[in-house]
Amino acid sequence: MQINPVKGTHDIYNEESKEYSLLINQASNIAERFNYVKMTTPILESTNLFVRSVGESSDIVNKEMYTFLDKGGRSLTLRPEVTAGIMRSIATNKLYANAELPLKYYYVGPCFRYERPQAGRYRQFHQFGIEAVGNPSAQLDAETISLGYLYLKSLKFSNVKVVINSLGDEETRINYRNALKQYFSQYIENMCEDCKRRFETNPLRILDCKVPEDNEIAKNAPKLSDFLSDNAREYFDRVLNLLKLFGVDNIVIDNSLVRGLDYYTGVVWEYHISSNDATDVGAIGGGGHYKNLLKEIGGPDLEGVGLAIGLERAHYLWSTLVKKEPVDNKLDFYIAPMGDNALEVGIKFATSLREKGYSVSIPYENKSLKSLLKSASKSNAKFAIIIGDEEINNDNYIIKDLSNGVQTNIKFNDIVGEQLNLNNEIIEKLNNK
Ligand code: AMP
Repeated sequence: MQINPVKGTHDIYNEESKEYSLLINQASNIAERFNYVKMTTPILESTNLFVRSVGESSDIVNKEMYTFLDKGGRSLTLRPEVTAGIMRSIATNKLYANAELPLKYYYVGPCFRYERPQAGRYRQFHQFGIEAVGNPSAQLDAETISLGYLYLKSLKFSNVKVVINSLGDEETRINYRNALKQYFSQYIENMCEDCKRRFETNPLRILDCKVPEDNEIAKNAPKLSDFLSDNAREYFDRVLNLLKLFGVDNIVIDNSLVRGLDYYTGVVWEYHISSNDATDVGAIGGGGHYKNLLKEIGGPDLEGVGLAIGLERAHYLWSTLVKKEPVDNKLDFYIAPMGDNALEVGIKFATSLREKGYSVSIPYENKSLKSLLKSASKSNAKFAIIIGDEEINNDNYIIKDLSNGVQTNIKFNDIVGEQLNLNNEIIEKLNNK
């Protein structure tokens, strides 16, 4: 009986796996350039963590969580996002004590949401993200926005757009919430069940409704921008002005952007890549400022700002719009031994080369020279080293450049000696990873 993968999940293998590694390495690289340190938190957390952080009025908590009781009767949830776990870790490990603020952490890992699978939407997907906690400033918000922008630019996307809005401060939100309640009260009877719930818990969420009729009503709702307090407006303007300084030059202000997580306050944004050549999979990532999140889950009163980029969406768009050739991670050596003695020498070569940091493949079954060379070429190695009894007796081995067929002779000690002793051209090709 064949067992199928769980709906909404996918395997990442072969060429695609190399592509994901490239996207992840680049993300880590950029985060480290901004002095972020990697953090890994558990995939399993107490359900309460997400209820208190992501929020009871969010679709994620209401409909999309993988929640279950473990054998000890604890309610656990497969994390639907990573920010809450990072905050939990900052609180439980007191990472803020004696530390230079802001704390800066980045992460990469799987998240789980029980959503309807469709283009760009999975039930298990992966996110790269960053969180900067403590010492809030318009500069830090702008820097955070720029990190995601720089990452996407570094992947050679030509049309990265930052869509941005401000949810304002406490004062803004109280006034706006009242205005929304008043506006929607005349329509709510005939709106969807989700909107009825949102009306009670967080009317802001109604603006995010995907039901076409409700969406029409939401279009004419009061605009958040009309309710921004002077402080909030001034702060938002400061962030917008700073973005240019941080190298973000494609910005669109969208007053209807609210994002799907309840903890955001202040500036929120999304990254979009537009192109006619690709299916619209929605935002590639997004982020925002959060004032009370850490406090809400029992930590100190420190504000934060963060972003998350969906790797499945980034990968789809990158492989459709940017990728021109296969990701090149060639094997350095394929060792071709003919016979038992040759295999013994081959293993010594392989061991020594691996110790020196090179990648090596060596077959352990008996093969003819013809079939060895065929395997060498299939392995996509840069060089083959050919070993037979004659080569051993004469201490004269053949190293073959598989890109052009050029052969050079080498000695046993050229490989197993303290240093690799090969001509400069070969060393250069090897080091050009
Ligand atoms: P969020 O955590 O909701 O702010 O989402 C951040 C990013 O994660 C989105 O812009 C998507 O790229 C990605 N994402 C969120 N949900 C999914 C999903 N169900 N499948 C694939 N990617 C997702």
